[in-house]
Amino acid sequence: MDVREPVVAYVALGANLGQPQAALAQAIDALDALPYTRVTARSSLYRTAPVDAGGPDFFNAVVQLSTRLPAPVLLDALQNLEQAAGRERPYRHAPRTLDLDLLLYGDARIDSPRLTVPHPRMHERAFVLVPLHELAPARVGPDALAAVAGQRIQRLDA
Ligand code: ATP
Ligand code: MG
Ligand code: MG
Repeated sequence: MDVREPVVAYVALGANLGQPQAALAQAIDALDALPYTRVTARSSLYRTAPVDAGGPDFFNAVVQLSTRLPAPVLLDALQNLEQAAGRERPYRHAPRTLDLDLLLYGDARIDSPRLTVPHPRMHERAFVLVPLHELAPARVGPDALAAVAGQRIQRLDA
């Protein structure tokens, strides 16, 4: 792999099946253990109402990474971690043991068949915008937060 400058990336974590809090904690440790990658900040943990998805309440968080992995390689790693956590996809937006979505990768705009960055639905979702705003307020405008203010979200830790 090329030697390249580290990029600041943001990953959204979500789960509402199995043991969601344990799955999120394990995923954060696993992200920190990825090659060329460090978790440099993590948001509070949140409990949220399912938005597009069905099933029980979600647990959500966002982490900031410093990574030298190219974005498609980072996506591969996220999908491997989802698989290791037992992720199944019986239908779109089904309840899940772990979802890892790449929200932002530096200032990159990516539009490939398997990867769109910034994540195309992040601005619809309080469970993404509220924890992202904790870590990167400059990347979430006040209008964006106001637009999702009606969605139920509860911060579980400080
Ligand atoms: P949503 O994308 O609306 O949050 P989801 O997370 O449930 O839905 P998944 O089943 O996890 O959807 O992913 C479906 C596909 O989305 C993946 O196969 C992946 O290739 C693609 N994808 C495109 N852009 C991204 C991104 N920024 N982060 C993660 N996956 C992405
Ligand atoms: Mg998702
Ligand atoms: Mg996903």
